[in-house]
Amino acid sequence: MKINCSIIGGGIVGLMTAREVARAKPSWDIAVFESSEYLGDATTGRNSGVLHSGIYYPTNSLKHTLCMQGNSLWREEPGANIISCGKMLVGDDLSDLEFKANNNGVEYRYANDEELEQLNLYTHSDKALFIASTGVLDIASFIREITYELKSMGVAVLINSKVTELKPSCLKVGDDWYQSDLIINCAGLGAIELRSKLGLTNYTQKLVKGRWLTTTEKFEAPWLIYPKPLPNLLGLGVHSCIDPDGSVRFGPDAYPIVAGSVDYTFGDYENLLSDTLAQFPNLDKSRISPSMVGIRTKLEETTDFVVDSPLPGYIEALGIESPGLTAAPAIAKLIVDLI
Ligand SMILES: Cc1cc2nc3c(=O)[nH]c(=O)nc-3n(C[C@H](O)[C@H](O)[C@H](O)COP(=O)(O)OP(=O)(O)OC[C@H]3O[C@@H](n4cnc5c(N)ncnc54)[C@H](O)[C@@H]3O)c2cc1C
Repeated sequence: MKINCSIIGGGIVGLMTAREVARAKPSWDIAVFESSEYLGDATTGRNSGVLHSGIYYPTNSLKHTLCMQGNSLWREEPGANIISCGKMLVGDDLSDLEFKANNNGVEYRYANDEELEQLNLYTHSDKALFIASTGVLDIASFIREITYELKSMGVAVLINSKVTELKPSCLKVGDDWYQSDLIINCAGLGAIELRSKLGLTNYTQKLVKGRWLTTTEKFEAPWLIYPKPLPNLLGLGVHSCIDPDGSVRFGPDAYPIVAGSVDYTFGDYENLLSDTLAQFPNLDKSRISPSMVGIRTKLEETTDFVVDSPLPGYIEALGIESPGLTAAPAIAKLIVDLI
């Protein structure tokens, strides 16, 4: 069977890329191959769900520019439910984050006395930066919307379809080989292994697990609360997340796991619990329990995203860790620019 464009991976990046390709090339036969039974069930369904502002990343990196573009593009999505809660970034000295916000073009203001008083019901802080452009995305409902949209555009969305072999303009699923003029690798945690089948070995990945705890207690802070990230932290540190159903999670922590072993077990969580209680000391420990596990793909060779076409007829998105959910619509546009 001959396809014009195959997208490997039915996470947010693959699905948004498929839609962008279908819009740009309406006459093309396009297929999405997803190994799992469900779309968006890997990293896309296991994150904080935060629409990031772009404050943290090196100025003009892909993480910075695609995050900012993605944040705006999400707001133009009719099928996206966004909770526009904003975020309070707390810490003793926020001057370096203020500097970054100014450099990165992120709007912010300092919290006022009334807000600080309210904030101190949940955490302890004399100062906070409020960033209004941070929000929360209902990713599960958006995955349903975009899947319906793709099918109505004639894109073949194939679940239970793991790509096991890759050659120039050819991919293998089950016992079948498919010819494809263009192959786009959006396979998340599987992207590095897949590209190695094309002889591409210049990137390696480190997998870093993140876990969240949840509480049955009422936690009614109207914004997300983030501590200022510590230097050399593998993630942003334990923060509060508001889920679309109104429940609240705390996390994620960050620790490397063996590359190649995608391990979603929760394990012991004493450290995560003490980090959570250090940030949110008024929480009732007895009402906290494990929630979710997600895995970051971090490249050893760069801290930035890689979106590139290293071979004719082949495009890849690598190292799409946070803020990949926010950046996804902009990554999709960048990929289409590479066609
Ligand atoms: C702890 C944590 C917290 C995060 N928090 C945020 C946040 O708050 N905000 C934000 O913007 N981002 C966040 N992120 C990042 C965000 O979740 C990811 O950047 C994004 O989901 C990546 O999407 P993706 O489509 O690239 O990958 P995935 O969702 O992993 O999709 C890749 C798909 O490819 C499939 N696949 C793999 N190999 C094959 C194969 N051989 N054949 C066929 N299919 C294959 C997989 O099954 C998967 O469905 C977080 C990530 C983690 C881990």
